Amino acid sequence: MIPSVLPTYARAPLTFVKGEGSWLMDADNRRYLDMGGGIAVNVLGHAHPELVSVLQHQATQLWHTSNLYNIPNQQALADRLVEHTFADTVFVTNSGTESMECCVKMARKYHYENGNPERTNIIAFEGSFHGRSLGMISAAGAEKLTKGFGPLLPGFTHLKLGDLADVEAAIDGTTAAIMVEPVQGEGGIIPLPDDYMQGLRKLCDDNGILLILDEIQCGMGRTGKLFALEWSGITPDIMGIAKGIGGGFPLGACLATEKAASGMIAGTHGSTYGGNPLACAVGSKVMDIVATPEFLGEVSVKAGHLRQRLEGLVASHPDVFISMRGSGLMIGVECKAPNIDVVKAGYDAEVLTVPGGANVIRLLPPLTISTQEIDEAVARLDKAATAIEASL
Ligand SMILES: *Cc1c(COP(=O)(O)O)cnc(C)c1O
Repeated sequence: MIPSVLPTYARAPLTFVKGEGSWLMDADNRRYLDMGGGIAVNVLGHAHPELVSVLQHQATQLWHTSNLYNIPNQQALADRLVEHTFADTVFVTNSGTESMECCVKMARKYHYENGNPERTNIIAFEGSFHGRSLGMISAAGAEKLTKGFGPLLPGFTHLKLGDLADVEAAIDGTTAAIMVEPVQGEGGIIPLPDDYMQGLRKLCDDNGILLILDEIQCGMGRTGKLFALEWSGITPDIMGIAKGIGGGFPLGACLATEKAASGMIAGTHGSTYGGNPLACAVGSKVMDIVATPEFLGEVSVKAGHLRQRLEGLVASHPDVFISMRGSGLMIGVECKAPNIDVVKAGYDAEVLTVPGGANVIRLLPPLTISTQEIDEAVARLDKAATAIEASL
């Protein structure tokens, strides 16, 4: 009989009842060190006192009114995002998928309004992930996302990452935009080189097309900058964010320049919940805490510590691990053993990691993790690796 929850997830046999900082507790009060951070969502850990307090306060005031009316918390969040990024304007959503859908709609509308309605095609990349809507599985294109769900949405070209000449060759009179994750997440933590990002920006400028970034996983302080794009010094025309911005409350946004957003006038796009007072109260607080030089500096220091410790771990378990890569506290450890086995051995050692493409385990811990917790996580991963070796 089909379970009452549609069985689309291969869930681990773990059930958590409480979270605190970098820790998750089950009903037997076993304490797991959460190096997955809810897939890069819990940037301030679990039950951060300031997030709890802002949400509790908002819950006593007002939950929902709809976008028929002004929403001061939405305005406050948008103001913060505009202040701290390239963006002139923001559409607030409930998820990453919706943010990316808005990005694509906006890019097409831009060209339509500028007298180029034939410019509808989006150049995207193999190994990317942009969400699970029909549009966004069509955008990513991988068979594991699309199989059985056709017909897919037309208008996406898929290229291998790495060679700017391929991108240049793929651009034609129908191209609307290039869409890319500065650090591929689901694909196995693949940071794109700065010169590649700069090259994409230049190709967009030279050809009058828009650059769309997906910073849903790599943004919100994860790499030690508020957004990963800052490492290459470029700015996009449109960018989708989600995950970390809500710190665990469902929230996302589509950020854009005034020019790119010029076609999105009243009535062209909308969302019932998007920009809801509860979500935006939390989002503004997350921005206030994360978007400071002190906080981001700490992320880089902790990231340096974690990477140094992980290098030692990888070197001492050559039958389990191959190498490590990433940016800031967004790290992929490529495994020799099946990554699922490593993740499962981590459960036994009470440390949580997330599998990713290319046989990688992903480490996406709360950005508030302490140095001691990092050492403890590496000790637990060492225990997990030793257990795998014993079973080989
Ligand atoms: C998670 C993710 C998405 C989809 O976000 P949802 O909130 O699950 O809809 C899109 N792009 C990237 C890069 C992601 O990591």
